[in-house]
Amino acid sequence: MIRENVARILAELPDGVELVAAAKTRTPEEVLEAVQAGIKIIGENYIREAKPAYKVVGKKARWHFIGTLQKHNVRIKALEIFDMIETIHTLEIVKEIDRKCARIGKVMPVLIEINSGREPQKSGVFPEDAERLIRDISSLRNVKVAGLMTMGPRFGNPEDSRPYFVETRKIFERIKGLNLPNVEMQYLSMGMTNSYKIAIEENANIVRIGTKIFGGRTEPEPVL
Ligand SMILES: *Cc1c(COP(=O)(O)O)cnc(C)c1O
Repeated sequence: MIRENVARILAELPDGVELVAAAKTRTPEEVLEAVQAGIKIIGENYIREAKPAYKVVGKKARWHFIGTLQKHNVRIKALEIFDMIETIHTLEIVKEIDRKCARIGKVMPVLIEINSGREPQKSGVFPEDAERLIRDISSLRNVKVAGLMTMGPRFGNPEDSRPYFVETRKIFERIKGLNLPNVEMQYLSMGMTNSYKIAIEENANIVRIGTKIFGGRTEPEPVL
């Protein structure tokens, strides 16, 4: 099933759009199966799930962190696993990542998560605060801003996601135009199972897909 799903999605994605397999609640074996079917990037929400999956899959894939990072789980062991952290929205956390990455001689690419709906209960920076945060991060040596990420609504009519994606695309283009030093606005990560086609129309070049690859999740939706 996973094999067919991956093949179908990969066949229809336009060139230049990277697929992140969102692996929350999946077993290491399922993650490995996705990689053997052609997945190149795994997205993990939880360090405790990433570790056993990484043991099985290792460097056969790249690893993106797409969950909520708390300061106390910014650990060197986790930073060694991940090739990108997509969910940066506070200076405090990113400074901690910078400090720990300096100790292992790593420069971590990060995406800034935009709260494109300005919903207080959702994570991400409000659109008007993104530039300030990016300027602050640009002075850190072991973290490098590589673009933006947004969630948007998970369910409902896919078209309902478009305004969130448009908002984020506009911020992306504006900040890219500023040509800030040590900031490379390369990636726009938007769209999930429900909405990725709309996201691609709005210039996403990373889409994060879980359900359409692995099937439905039985667990309650994690709080993000
Ligand atoms: C779960 C998750 C996804 C994938 O969601 P699906 O609807 O299963 O495709 C994408 N991004 C993030 C941050 C997630 O937590």
